[in-house]
Amino acid sequence: MNLHPEPALLSAFLDQALNAAERQALNQHLAGCERCRLGLRRLEESKQWLAHLPPPPVPDDLLPRLARIAVPWWHLPKVKIWIPAGALAMSLLAVMVWEVQRPQVEEGIPIGILAAAHSRYEAESLVPLEDLSSPNFTAELAADLEEEGYAI
Ligand SMILES: [Zn+2]
Repeated sequence: MNLHPEPALLSAFLDQALNAAERQALNQHLAGCERCRLGLRRLEESKQWLAHLPPPPVPDDLLPRLARIAVPWWHLPKVKIWIPAGALAMSLLAVMVWEVQRPQVEEGIPIGILAAAHSRYEAESLVPLEDLSSPNFTAELAADLEEEGYAI
């Protein structure tokens, strides 16, 4: 260390905030520089004098001023995670409501359609009423279909 150290480096030396290499370089400089040893001594005396000063008084109106500018926790900005969490919850709720209200796919033919078809067959006499409950109905229907060229 050829140049005289900055006062901040001397202060850090007194605060024991230097690493080993910095401390060794400064000690070498101080060993050969009376001016810096004197500066270090005065700095140390200043620090000791300042350490014995009473703390500055707290202004009487500090607490009321802080209370005026303080924001209650319920007025603080909301945490941003609530927005996506709320959107996700609403999406899940919408899916659940849609799933509950969605008409279920029924297997087979609804009874209403079968009843309507039965009524039409009866009304138009496409199938004789006595044949609707006849055990021969299936055989008669198969014969009719075969006659029309359908493969059974
Ligand atoms: Zn020096």
